[in-house]
Amino acid sequence: MVYEELQRMTDESERIVFFGGAGVSTESGIPDFRSVDGLYHQKYDWPPETILSHTFFMKKPEAFFQFYRDKMLPLDAKPNKAHLKLAEWERAGKLIGVVTQNIDGLHQAAGSQKVFELHGSIHRNYCMKCGKFYPPEYIRDSREVVPVCACGGRIKPDVVLYEEGLDNSVVSGAVHAIAKADLMIVAGTSLTVYPAAGLIHYFHGKHLVLINRDKTQMDDQCDLVIHDKVGEVLSSLT
Ligand code: ZN
Repeated sequence: MVYEELQRMTDESERIVFFGGAGVSTESGIPDFRSVDGLYHQKYDWPPETILSHTFFMKKPEAFFQFYRDKMLPLDAKPNKAHLKLAEWERAGKLIGVVTQNIDGLHQAAGSQKVFELHGSIHRNYCMKCGKFYPPEYIRDSREVVPVCACGGRIKPDVVLYEEGLDNSVVSGAVHAIAKADLMIVAGTSLTVYPAAGLIHYFHGKHLVLINRDKTQMDDQCDLVIHDKVGEVLSSLT
């Protein structure tokens, strides 16, 4: 029933915007930070939210990069059915943008081009001194624990760490896409984390749909709620 309802909504929509969280990537085998079996429950000397903070990155880069290489560089992960369906909609001219909290680059790997990565990407890494960019393989394969540029500067992944602000141009791109959309699909996130949670207020389109495995505080505010796997739901649509 709910699937048919979603099918009807996507059929009559011309400007879909997708807002995705960690739950979109878990189906590609990438763990959710905040889930029960996610990173927060694994054993490190510090909790992940400490390791992934700006202060920690500056003060203890060795421990940061050990964790980062171990947990944050899933370079073998492949796009799943959700990523593929969204890329298909974009090619068909039905989808005007993907806003994501994920940093794994799987939307682009699936072929999406209009992607707003609120928290940055593991695929971009830059020298803090000269600004030169490096691919993620350079971080993974670096013989030094802390990867260093040819100029001697430290290389930083272009991901938004705790204590750091979001990129303004990414946020405004996301806001524009959301404001123009006639259908917004929020998936794989409970949308409780600000500032991302605030973005939903820019949506003034027809239908707001939430796809999430578990119940969220937002369920009541949506026109349609589906408690299921994102990839399964999207791939069932034609
Ligand atoms: Zn450099």
